[in-house]
Amino acid sequence: VSYSLENIEANQHLNAFVDVYADEARKRAAGIDEKIKNGSAGKLAGLVIGIKDVICHADHPVQAGSHILDGFESQFNSTAVERLLAEDAIIIGRNNCDEFAMGSSNENSYFGNVLNAIDTERVPGGSSGGSAVAVQADMCHVSLGSDTGGSVRQPAAFCGILGLKPTYSRISRHGLIAYASSFDSIGIFSKNVEDMARVLEVIAGEDSYDSTVSKTPVPAYSTKLNPDNNYRVAYIRETLETDGLQPEIREATEKTISKLTSMGHRVDAVDFPLLDYLLPAYYILTTAEASSNLSRFDGVKYGYRSENGDDLESMYKKTRSEGFGKEVKRRIMLGTFILSASYYDAFYNKAQKVRRMIRDLTKKILSEYDFIVLPVTPTTAFKLGEHTANPLEMYLADLFTVQASVSGLPAISIPNGTDKAGLPIGFQIIADDFQEDRLLAFSKMLM
Ligand code: GLN
Repeated sequence: VSYSLENIEANQHLNAFVDVYADEARKRAAGIDEKIKNGSAGKLAGLVIGIKDVICHADHPVQAGSHILDGFESQFNSTAVERLLAEDAIIIGRNNCDEFAMGSSNENSYFGNVLNAIDTERVPGGSSGGSAVAVQADMCHVSLGSDTGGSVRQPAAFCGILGLKPTYSRISRHGLIAYASSFDSIGIFSKNVEDMARVLEVIAGEDSYDSTVSKTPVPAYSTKLNPDNNYRVAYIRETLETDGLQPEIREATEKTISKLTSMGHRVDAVDFPLLDYLLPAYYILTTAEASSNLSRFDGVKYGYRSENGDDLESMYKKTRSEGFGKEVKRRIMLGTFILSASYYDAFYNKAQKVRRMIRDLTKKILSEYDFIVLPVTPTTAFKLGEHTANPLEMYLADLFTVQASVSGLPAISIPNGTDKAGLPIGFQIIADDFQEDRLLAFSKMLM
């Protein structure tokens, strides 16, 4: 805890934490020391964890990087937090993030930008940028983020660490502030596979507070990290031919693919002709879901309330106009348009059908192969402000991460060298539903 607190202090300029619970963490650590002495400590005793500002922690503020939740404190623990605490992990603070987890650079936070520790003129990625930098700069061992379309994997790639998005429904969403409920997954950042496996086995699994959580038993991931010696791996040809793919990322991906071949695994190129439909389907469906989810922030139930309204209706309007940032408003408007009576069939229903096609084709590949491998991002970490003027350009940062999200499949980003400027490159691996144990063993083999 002291080591973490020193690093947090020394790296304040990176803005990775919104709140740090120094006294509370020290106190907890002392209590856990006692438990260790008398042999009653939990599985995660002493593990220092940061949590993204979308994950509820009883009697602590949570505000999704937004002005609209000013002053709001959660009355209950999210299931993930509840399980971490039960195993004696130590929550050191809440991590900065893009407002309501919408963004790819952490430039949409009410609390300001997060900086990449490797080059402070560059973004850490988003939306879980604070959680990624907290692990990158050793401010905690592990952190929790949320991944709706890449928000754990993309910042992990930009920061040179590991980021896992488990299968949709593997980890309870109870106490996770919703962005797009049919995509949202809590994800894990770490510097090694073992820590990730231990945290996953603690927080995953059935939960009566979230009826979408799978009843599939949770394996002891940390004891299943031995790799096979003959994996079947597919890489998607189109991803390596994408315009705008940074050449060093293509080379690094090809190098890892050759390494797999030389280790004796079977690696084949496969076609994925739906690549162009990934981002449109993702952004149509997630903005639709977000417009509905975010209607609850009306100035009555939570956090900020505008004092400028004359009646209930104008209080709602003013609260929402003043409380939400630009990107969140853009998505609420887009989503409302998509769900409106005259466009529902043309956009929402069509995107649902495309989603099914994307999942079916991805599952078909995974019926013949153990894993699909691809880059995480088209470029390494970009400069602050580089894409803020053009939202479409920003959305392109998610090109390779949304396939697993649209399909609900588990995917991980692991470090794969650096570009000429020394900026980290990520390598992405997608597995079939609930194959996290195999995904982690395969990742460990490649590290
Ligand atoms: N960057 C993507 C978006 O803005 C992903 C966000 C996320 O996974 N939360 O929607």
